[in-house]
Amino acid sequence: MLFEKKLFPTLMAKSFRDVTPELVRVMGIGSLICDIDNTLVTYDDPEPTPEVREWFAAMEAAGVRIAFVSNNAKERVDLFNSSLGYPAYPKSGKPKKKYIFEAMADTGTDEKTAVLLGDQLLTDAAAANNAGIRSIIVPPINDKKTLFFRAKRAIERPYVKKYLKIHGMLGTEE
Ligand SMILES: [Mg+2]
Repeated sequence: MLFEKKLFPTLMAKSFRDVTPELVRVMGIGSLICDIDNTLVTYDDPEPTPEVREWFAAMEAAGVRIAFVSNNAKERVDLFNSSLGYPAYPKSGKPKKKYIFEAMADTGTDEKTAVLLGDQLLTDAAAANNAGIRSIIVPPINDKKTLFFRAKRAIERPYVKKYLKIHGMLGTEE
């Protein structure tokens, strides 16, 4: 079905921590083009947590290049990235693919090796599909409770359900 093609990720995992060096090897991941909010940290974490920093270090050690493509404001993205210094695109307008391509260029990767990591089907998985790259989607760490966010989640819920029924979810956390 058309919408499934547009919204289904390549993989659903329980957490960014389930993207391990082993998974990097198996999937042939050259770069992770990362969403920030609710994928790596909550909206209320202005900077990376120690856990996120450790994970970035492990990904870099596994040969993965990192970039950020966020729909959030420049100030938020710049502050989060200030100690990391990765290529970063705020206000990226996902599901548009424009900045996915910019991030691929920055990381020296292409459609075969770049993977988008995010928490929303409607923006993140759709952007990856629009750009012709793979995606890993994790459940939101702590969703905003606004009507807009609840509506977006309600739209994607049947697709998440269907995806999980067919493919299941990677990860060992309870
Ligand atoms: Mg997000």
